[in-house]
Amino acid sequence: MILPKTNRLTPEQLATVTDIVTEFGCKIQPIIGAVRTIYAIVGDERDELMINRLEGLDYIERIDRIQSPFKLMDRRSDLSTHRIQLGGVTLGEELLVIAGACTIDPKNPNYFYETAHAVKEAGAHVIRGGVWKPRTNPYTFQGDVKSLDILMEASRRTGLPVDTEVMEESHIQLALDAGVHSLQVGARNALNYSLLRSIGRAIAQKNTCVLLKRSIHMGPLNEFISAAEYIAAFGNPNVILCPRGTTPTLDGYRNHPDESITPLLKEKTWAPVVVDPSHSVGKANYVPAAALAAVAYGADGLCIESHVEPAKGIGDDPKQSITPDVLKKTIAQAKALWALQRG
Ligand code: PEP
Ligand code: MN
Repeated sequence: MILPKTNRLTPEQLATVTDIVTEFGCKIQPIIGAVRTIYAIVGDERDELMINRLEGLDYIERIDRIQSPFKLMDRRSDLSTHRIQLGGVTLGEELLVIAGACTIDPKNPNYFYETAHAVKEAGAHVIRGGVWKPRTNPYTFQGDVKSLDILMEASRRTGLPVDTEVMEESHIQLALDAGVHSLQVGARNALNYSLLRSIGRAIAQKNTCVLLKRSIHMGPLNEFISAAEYIAAFGNPNVILCPRGTTPTLDGYRNHPDESITPLLKEKTWAPVVVDPSHSVGKANYVPAAALAAVAYGADGLCIESHVEPAKGIGDDPKQSITPDVLKKTIAQAKALWALQRG
């Protein structure tokens, strides 16, 4: 829909606009109001070049798109009945819980094994553990490929699937060859389109899921869903959206908690939403309330950092991992809230 700056286009302006849309196989249908005339674009109006050309005309105020820019991830697409399964849970039917350490310590693998057992016992369906870590400070521990074996050993010992972040193309194949069930795209890489494409390509013929974090800055929701579309476009639509707090921060929290975008996402996309309260608030004692808030907002699941002895952990674990006891209580409360809402 084209909205001119003036009440209507002049015949010359209309001719220019018509020429542009015709080039892209569309037509113009004026909608004449008492005061103002607007112009519908009839046809596939998703071509960005066409929109950019129209927006570039100085007599055009704006173009409102009627069609969704996401062919696959849109709530009204044919995929809207697709159900993602992970850890024995069909998303949308039961609250999915992903839990585990922020960072696997390759020097002390037993912490991870104990954590994996403990989070399973607390009710988690999927174990998370960072092998490669995006660290703000280049001199801190960046992860270690040895931790991939520890992650997979934890999966074998518990029988649960695992989730880990991949940050570059080489990680993708290593993780898939090892048998990782869910690839995490971190907040810093959420707009790394070549990484998203590589992931999409690598998992196209597989059942692998992707836990796609929201970008670290307050990216618009369409940008978040478009990132998911990048992956799904290759054929595997198992993309789970993960709000994890954004910057600028809410004073006192690590990030600005953004679980409240869940219902807004759900109006636009069928993709399940699994909220990460740990990175959102960034401190263990705030995590349980943030987890419940996420469920109250309609989240389909939670991704929570937990460690058997947070103080002995590395990466984010000492400050934001909750103990398995707290996790167990949080999961019980979250499930009760879920049942209240959806029951
Ligand atoms: C993590 O999951 O440990 C992590 C680094 O996440 P994010 O990309 O959300 O910061
Ligand atoms: Mn972390």
